[in-house]
Amino acid sequence: MSRRDVVRSLPPYKQGAAEGPDAVKLSSNENPYPPLPSVVAEIADRMRDPRGSFNRYPSMGAMELRTAIGSRFGVTADQVAVGAGSVEVATQLVHATAGMGDEVIFAWRSFEAYPILTVVSGATPVKVPLTADLHHDLAAMLAAITDRTRLILLCTPNNPTGTTLSTDEVEHFLSQVPENIVVAIDEAYVHFNRDPQAVSGVEMVSRHPNVIALQTFSKAYGLAGLRVGFGIGSVEMCEDLRRVAVPFAVSDVAQCAALASLQHEDELTERVEKIVAERGRVTAALRDQGWTLGDSQANFVWLPTGDDTARIDEVLRGEHVFARCWQGEGIRLSIGSPSENDRCLAAFARAIAPAPVRA
Ligand SMILES: *Cc1c(COP(=O)(O)O)cnc(C)c1O
Repeated sequence: MSRRDVVRSLPPYKQGAAEGPDAVKLSSNENPYPPLPSVVAEIADRMRDPRGSFNRYPSMGAMELRTAIGSRFGVTADQVAVGAGSVEVATQLVHATAGMGDEVIFAWRSFEAYPILTVVSGATPVKVPLTADLHHDLAAMLAAITDRTRLILLCTPNNPTGTTLSTDEVEHFLSQVPENIVVAIDEAYVHFNRDPQAVSGVEMVSRHPNVIALQTFSKAYGLAGLRVGFGIGSVEMCEDLRRVAVPFAVSDVAQCAALASLQHEDELTERVEKIVAERGRVTAALRDQGWTLGDSQANFVWLPTGDDTARIDEVLRGEHVFARCWQGEGIRLSIGSPSENDRCLAAFARAIAPAPVRA
């Protein structure tokens, strides 16, 4: 296949939909709350500050932000790489590790960006199906390793199923992965995880030089529109990421907002707690309505609605509620504000109601 044929065979990344002024948008795992007033105020200050002169490029090294992230996690700034969202850091990682003829292993279904990034890099995606209970099948992922494997992506909590990996299972997995293979632990939803057994990607980095943890300001911190994320890994790996990074991808405003967010983590934690509480409420209410769903550790829940997905999506859209639906598979429903969740629950109640009997 020619390069352009490869590109044209890629499925376009789908942005979560929502139409109409009263739309309830629960399709992109966004934070329902706007950025903290203190963060917004610092962004506004920055714009009046001479450093906020937007005729100048942002700091390319993002040293101030990397230092702040480093001290938050007890690592040095050179163990931190930043990008325009952690998707960009993942892109850097794929480009730095895998090219033509190389293989990248990840679970499936998982984050939709993984196969796209892999193919764009010229490498071959190796998708390992989730287990029946929607967990990563780590044994099968180990069995999928070949001498062409360069990178393994673990997503925990997994998007879109909300399932997590435990410290014990990841330790066991890593003990069997050759050290020349990089293992990324994508923990975009780490702040919402309340599973005491759950693995910490950042902690794994301190014990395994081939591990890199990916986190983002898009979800818990509510800065999805500003685009900033980061990776924590070895000095060598982060240096490689900076080599392949798009220069100046993280804007000055994004760097400023991320720094401010790190300074106001207490206030953000309060909001995260609200979302976690709502996740519990939504899960229980959906089960009461008769839906089947597992426990999620992210800011969304997964309903394995199978062949009924398209019909349910239709009903939800009719109520102006927008979830992310994969026809024939299931529905990923982001947790919104309490009132959004109420509207969503009412729409789901309609969707489960038996069809009226026609005379
Ligand atoms: C949302 C998400 C990200 C991060 O997205 P950015 O906005 O690019 O930081 C990364 N991984 C997963 C699994 C996600 O769901």
